[in-house]
Amino acid sequence: MADRFEPMPEDWQRALAVVAHPDDLEYGCAAAVATWTDAGREVSYLIATRGEAGIDTIAPAECGPVREREERASAAVVGVDVVEFLDHADGVIEYGPALRRDIAAAIRRHRPELVITLNPDDTWGGTYWNTPDHRAVGRAVLDAAGDAGNRWIFPDTEAPPWNGVRWVAVAGSNSPTHAVDVTGGLERGVRSLVEHRAYIEALTDQDPEAYARELIEGSAREAAARFGGHPAIPFRLFRF
Ligand SMILES: [Zn+2]
Repeated sequence: MADRFEPMPEDWQRALAVVAHPDDLEYGCAAAVATWTDAGREVSYLIATRGEAGIDTIAPAECGPVREREERASAAVVGVDVVEFLDHADGVIEYGPALRRDIAAAIRRHRPELVITLNPDDTWGGTYWNTPDHRAVGRAVLDAAGDAGNRWIFPDTEAPPWNGVRWVAVAGSNSPTHAVDVTGGLERGVRSLVEHRAYIEALTDQDPEAYARELIEGSAREAAARFGGHPAIPFRLFRF
């Protein structure tokens, strides 16, 4: 693990964040998104499922629309207007060509220089096992960043090939390399997570705002120790 994080690249205009579930981006990454949209950059979200299996007390048919609404509200807090859903099945997303194709097609449509995703490793560190959906989507995003530029792979997508992806930034990584100073976006990062109220209320008895603040500010402070004392969101940066 790097002793000090390198600053994230800033010479880009469009980013596409691709994750498995509503809430995946709000556990930290959203503060970075707020900082970027403040600087005039465009960020869009692509969510592989509607998170319909994410709340024990609400059955999937009812849960999906609730979580979709919460995700759109979360995105709006950090300056993101475009939120798309792929409708893979929550909990049982399969890694494979169908998932890679859906993500490559979205990359070709959005033409991002930076793609963002969530930790695809087996664990969150130590013995905290990661979920199958995060592993499948994270790996497929890293693969699709290359697929999108190859006109012989998935040749039938609506948009033409896009080989302009320069980096994939992985949030929640066990071995981050880069970080972004979120001094300006931290508060909206907290509020962005609070928008997942139905999800958080089913998860904990803690007040949603106190829960979100503790998590987001806590992790930004922890990263600050390796980023000149600035509250930060770390990423593992892959170059393409
Ligand atoms: Zn998730």
